[in-house]
Amino acid sequence: MRKLKNLELSRIFEQIAKILKIKDENPFKIRAYEKVALVLENLPIDVETIYRQGGLNNIPGVGEGIAKKIEEFLTTGKLEYYETLKESVPAGVIELLDIPEVGPKTAKLLYEQLNVDNIEKLEKAVKEHLIKDLPGMGEKSETNILRGIELYKRRKERFLLGLALPLAEEIVERLSKLEETNKINFAGSLRRKKETIGDIDILVTSQKPEKIMKTFVSLPQVREILAEGPTKSSVITRDDIHVDVRVVEPISFGAALQYFTGSKAHNIKLRELAVKRGLKINEYGVFDSKTGKRITGEEEEEVYRILELPFIPPELREDRGEIEAAQENELPQLIEYPQIKGDLHLHTKWSDGAHTIRQMAEEAKKRGYNYIAITDHSQSLKFAGGLTEERLVEQIEEIQKLNLELDDFTVLTGIEVDIKSDGSLDFSDEILSKLDVVVAAIHSGFKQESKIITERIIKAMQNKFVHIIAHPTGRLIGYREAYQMDMDKIIQVAADTGTILEINAHPERLDLNDVYCRMAKERGVQLAIETDAHSAEGLATMDFGIAVARRGWLEEKDIINTLSLDKLVKRLKRKL
Ligand SMILES: [Zn+2]
Ligand SMILES: [Zn+2]
Repeated sequence: MRKLKNLELSRIFEQIAKILKIKDENPFKIRAYEKVALVLENLPIDVETIYRQGGLNNIPGVGEGIAKKIEEFLTTGKLEYYETLKESVPAGVIELLDIPEVGPKTAKLLYEQLNVDNIEKLEKAVKEHLIKDLPGMGEKSETNILRGIELYKRRKERFLLGLALPLAEEIVERLSKLEETNKINFAGSLRRKKETIGDIDILVTSQKPEKIMKTFVSLPQVREILAEGPTKSSVITRDDIHVDVRVVEPISFGAALQYFTGSKAHNIKLRELAVKRGLKINEYGVFDSKTGKRITGEEEEEVYRILELPFIPPELREDRGEIEAAQENELPQLIEYPQIKGDLHLHTKWSDGAHTIRQMAEEAKKRGYNYIAITDHSQSLKFAGGLTEERLVEQIEEIQKLNLELDDFTVLTGIEVDIKSDGSLDFSDEILSKLDVVVAAIHSGFKQESKIITERIIKAMQNKFVHIIAHPTGRLIGYREAYQMDMDKIIQVAADTGTILEINAHPERLDLNDVYCRMAKERGVQLAIETDAHSAEGLATMDFGIAVARRGWLEEKDIINTLSLDKLVKRLKRKL
């Protein structure tokens, strides 16, 4: 997976719509841009592929004009219309729109009434309580805007795992091909697979590091070289990510890897254990604290073994009880990629996906899966090509036909049924009962108050035909916070009703997150890791979902899409 171009594009179209709103332009034009922004947001990673295959016009909401703009952006990296449009409004005012809580009307108001034309001025105006007295604003608006500013600042400093991990893997792969490279690995929060990371740290051992450094700083991904030296080089990539390569001594590699992988809290606790044993651990190795004599440091496993601990997988190293569990020999057997047997939340051309059911099935077979479920959107999601009852029946027939042709592979029928604002489902029980997999999700009314939105989800879980709740908290990392829901209650009802919760593997969602995953597991709730792919390429994001599951201490038995088809079908009937 490369850069998330479609998200970039989605954001540009969103910005265009917002600027047009500030300028009071034609509402139909504005609506068209908003619509395509939404569609692109749900179409992960592959808009370039679609373009190459000449399929831009098949994307819902993409007419000739917008297709041209997408093409321009993909081929030149820029959109002239957007650049010109931006010049018609003060830059700082447009920047205000990057704050989740500030819409075009608010931005216009802030600019005209308070002369707020950048984020610093906005923050100041909020703190001086100048905003609550503006027309249509109140004290709550001030709190919301302040929270929006924080979200914005965090987003500026952190990068999605979905962006950083493939980049780090590419760099490590390139450098490991050099014969000068002995050992190499990336460390830090990236190795712990946190959902967002600050920068990339790569450690390497070599007798002749000059060649490695030369290759590193001249990689095509590099935009700017910050430092180039024999033991450490730093660059900024074209995605603005800071990457360091550090040369360490072979006898220190394991200790350095352990040290730089962190987390800080985990390492502090480990060092305390070492002190009790008369040892000292640092990035150079493990030493006898009295004599200063080196005991070990070459291999990371050794650092743990010397403390009589089994190897602790990096994803667990957060000081959330993993050291205690290791001491009791009770570390979880974390879920691994080969254990996944299928993907249960996929979209096709029938709604807003890019590929056919057959193409999705073929891609899944290539990945070694035994089954998939097709879960296109339901009727009320008109902008996403939601299926009517009749279309759904047609789709079921097509899937039945396709299954006759496929060897050792099964396509399950399904739907991503919309949980409407009042908590009712978009289809009757009668229709839902005909499907193998029913995934239910919220796609509107995100801002409802906690009680209402919690009730909506609970009501859906109480329906015996609903198997899975998709993207349960609705967050988009850095852009939209989770719904104000009562997660404790939701997990309890999931346990009581046997409803499965999704780990949506889309890099911007990763929803549920690691902490909620573990909470769910401890209450006996099972989960499903699903890509929500809107294209064949989207199936590749499974890795990020697995990363979250591992950080949430999940094992094979906690994840229903590790089951064989027979057992899965049985499990899905458990609610009846
Ligand atoms: Zn959805
Ligand atoms: Zn979906």
